[in-house]
Amino acid sequence: MKNSSFQQLEATSLYCPRCKVAVPVRKRLLIILPDGEKFEYLCTRCATSLGNKIEPLSEEVRIII
Ligand SMILES: [Zn+2]
Repeated sequence: MKNSSFQQLEATSLYCPRCKVAVPVRKRLLIILPDGEKFEYLCTRCATSLGNKIEPLSEEVRIII
């Protein structure tokens, strides 16, 4: 059985303009929105924000009437 479509891509390292190198990132929950959770990616070296991403809420959580 294949379950490759189930996997979600996760950023583990991004280029930091301040460190001038690709660094491991720390994921931080910024805010919970009605359509998803907004995360921020921070450099683990200098804590510069390297980007953010909105993860939609899981389909399974929705209640279908
Ligand atoms: Zn950095």
